[in-house]
Amino acid sequence: MHDSKLIDAKDYPAATNAVMVLLVDDQAMIGEAVRRALSGVEGIDFHFCSDPYSAVDTARQIRPTVILQDLVMPGVDGLSLLGAYRAEPSLQDIPIIVLSTKEDPQVKSAAFANGANDYLVKLPDTIELIARIRYHSRSYIALQQRDEAFRALRESQQQLLEANLVLQRMMKSDGLTGLANRRHFDEYLEIEWSRALREQSQLSLIMIDVDYFKVYNDQFGHVAGDDVLRRVGAALADACSRSSDLVARYGGEEFAMILPSTASGGARLQAEKVRRAVEALNIPHCQPQEGASVTVSLGVATIMPIAGGDSLTLVEKADNALYRAKGNGRNQVGVEQ
Ligand code: GH3
Ligand code: MG
Ligand code: MG
Repeated sequence: MHDSKLIDAKDYPAATNAVMVLLVDDQAMIGEAVRRALSGVEGIDFHFCSDPYSAVDTARQIRPTVILQDLVMPGVDGLSLLGAYRAEPSLQDIPIIVLSTKEDPQVKSAAFANGANDYLVKLPDTIELIARIRYHSRSYIALQQRDEAFRALRESQQQLLEANLVLQRMMKSDGLTGLANRRHFDEYLEIEWSRALREQSQLSLIMIDVDYFKVYNDQFGHVAGDDVLRRVGAALADACSRSSDLVARYGGEEFAMILPSTASGGARLQAEKVRRAVEALNIPHCQPQEGASVTVSLGVATIMPIAGGDSLTLVEKADNALYRAKGNGRNQVGVEQ
């Protein structure tokens, strides 16, 4: 029979430092004796379960900090009950003090082998019983708190890791288009310049500038202008197939594409592909004439770096090529001479 006067132990989880004793014994007399021994002891709550068949369920419900377990009960072997507690994840670490009538080394040994943490012969001295209850509860509560602290630490480490990844991504990307930003462009160009120098491979750069964009903003507004930049940026990204290619927003309405291990011919083809992709967006524009659509001009430069050289020369060459494309009528690809 369960004692109905007892407090629901869910209100007293282990983390609150309250000691909760669960006594499992078929004899009501033992239950009464232990209750009397513990009554009035500060910080110790007591729950008595006389039905061994509901012991595991009761323990799961009240979450004791220590279990006092009888060994000989009708129909249930106390030793196998020890195993049942240990098989239950929420109970496996709860200290179990076996309360037995037998002062027998064999029985003691079997109890410890089956998962008991301590062994007392019934009925133990009250002072000793309380001391052992406190000792086992304290180490269980400390274990619970340590596990909880580790769990919280792991969780905050994970959150920090995720926040850092987001931050890193944000530091590298352009807020409007989601492409690489200027900072990332500069870093990547340096890296690829060094690699091309080491491997003596060709490095290409395409500078891309939206045609008549000032007029577009004046005519349709900056919000529409921003949308054009986003769509052009997406078209540029789509046009790149190699994972080593980098598309960046260079600034304003200018974009850049770094093409590692790409010779002049390949870079020119890529630029032409980009030009067509933007044209195919068919975004209405009023320049160079009514009924026109948004286009870009592109400048292509290719270099095989030499020791002591500077990656800025590649940018300057691509810029010059872009300038020529503008001068020759826009919506075209200029190539470095
Ligand atoms: P060109 O064909 O010679 O390139 O002429 P353009 O008008 O495109 O070039 P210009 O350099 O005269 O003007 C660029 C315009 O791009 C001016 C500026 O208002 C606009 N612009 C730059 N950054 C942004 C932006 O982030 N959003 C919007 N909506 N407009 C921008
Ligand atoms: Mg410009
Ligand atoms: Mg422009």
